[in-house]
Amino acid sequence: MNSYIESLLELIYPEKNICYICDYYDESIGENYICNKCRQSIKKVVPPLCNKCGKPINYGLSINLCPDCFNFEKYFETSRSPFLYEGIIKNGIYNFKYYNKPYYYKLFGSLLLQYMNKINYLNFNYIVSVPLHRSKLKSRGYNQSELLAIYISNKLNIPYINALKRIKKTNKQSSQSKLNRMRNLENSFTINKKNKINFIKKSSVLLVDDVYTTGSTANECSKALLNYGVNKVYVITIAR
Ligand SMILES: [Zn+2]
Ligand SMILES: [Zn+2]
Repeated sequence: MNSYIESLLELIYPEKNICYICDYYDESIGENYICNKCRQSIKKVVPPLCNKCGKPINYGLSINLCPDCFNFEKYFETSRSPFLYEGIIKNGIYNFKYYNKPYYYKLFGSLLLQYMNKINYLNFNYIVSVPLHRSKLKSRGYNQSELLAIYISNKLNIPYINALKRIKKTNKQSSQSKLNRMRNLENSFTINKKNKINFIKKSSVLLVDDVYTTGSTANECSKALLNYGVNKVYVITIAR
């Protein structure tokens, strides 16, 4: 069976009422895709947050920016994430990306949507996602951020646009220093002009990614969108 069909089956395979994280069966799980016990063990991002990137910061700062946002220019308006990148969220995202579990977009998509509703992070003209390089897309078979973005787009009735293209193949980011990551990602993204997306100029766009680590990816994508003429870019990721 080729991997495309396999991933397609994976999208429909998991039974309703089974927790994606621990396989526990409970009829109350339904379209939450997660049992109560797992849900309660998720570590949330707790305010006060950096106005820009959403990192938890200490009380009593005169400016509500984390040191990173204070020192490095950010092209996006704000970035928000409901969860800390640890425990079952970290494992779940790893499985989502590397263990052929594309259907996890349902779990993470619904968690993101609940959070976006809660903080009223809903006012966008279009939704875009961080692209994979085409060679990686070919080997993985799906782009996890795109699956999330399309899920949110459908639920909120905001058009999803395949706006960005990754033109530079980059090494695995997590093993590198902040400065290296920044250099490595510079000019890695461009606008998918062949998709005729002129209409996104002057609009507000939500950029979807799985994890916010140093913010370099979100920043480079935002830069490409702003240079093209997009008015404002907002970012959402599952975790940070
Ligand atoms: Zn569970
Ligand atoms: Zn910040």
